[in-house]
Amino acid sequence: MATKRQKKEATSLAELQGLLRGAGLRSTGPRVAVLRDLLGRAAPASHADLCDALRRDGFDRATLYRNLIDLADAGIVSRVDLGDHVWRFEVKRRKGDHVANHPHFVCSACGVVSCLPDVAVRITRGPSAPRSLASKDVAIQLTALCDACV
Ligand SMILES: [Zn+2]
Ligand SMILES: [Zn+2]
Repeated sequence: MATKRQKKEATSLAELQGLLRGAGLRSTGPRVAVLRDLLGRAAPASHADLCDALRRDGFDRATLYRNLIDLADAGIVSRVDLGDHVWRFEVKRRKGDHVANHPHFVCSACGVVSCLPDVAVRITRGPSAPRSLASKDVAIQLTALCDACV
């Protein structure tokens, strides 16, 4: 049982390199570090979050930013803006061949952000709604109080 859990938590170097190469990117130290950090999170992370987490490994802010953008441009990572004008980044989750979109939760009191991969929101488009609401790229953000702030 212990080995099963370990396997799920840590993504191997070979898997990370495979993800990078599959997207047409060269596998470099900073890219592997950024990808590993993002995969280990349950919420999208800002550039500042990554700097805090990876500073001890000797990566400077500019290097981390450039590599985040590389990963986003290559389509491995998506950028989300949750209304506070801070770009956050997360690894795109895939279901089969297509990227699975999921809602994000933001606590209206403390601002904590989390992914809700198992929450489904159904959009019923009325006549006054923009046509783009029918697309799969709609960003859904739910705001309420988190469990700690209720
Ligand atoms: Zn809260
Ligand atoms: Zn997310």
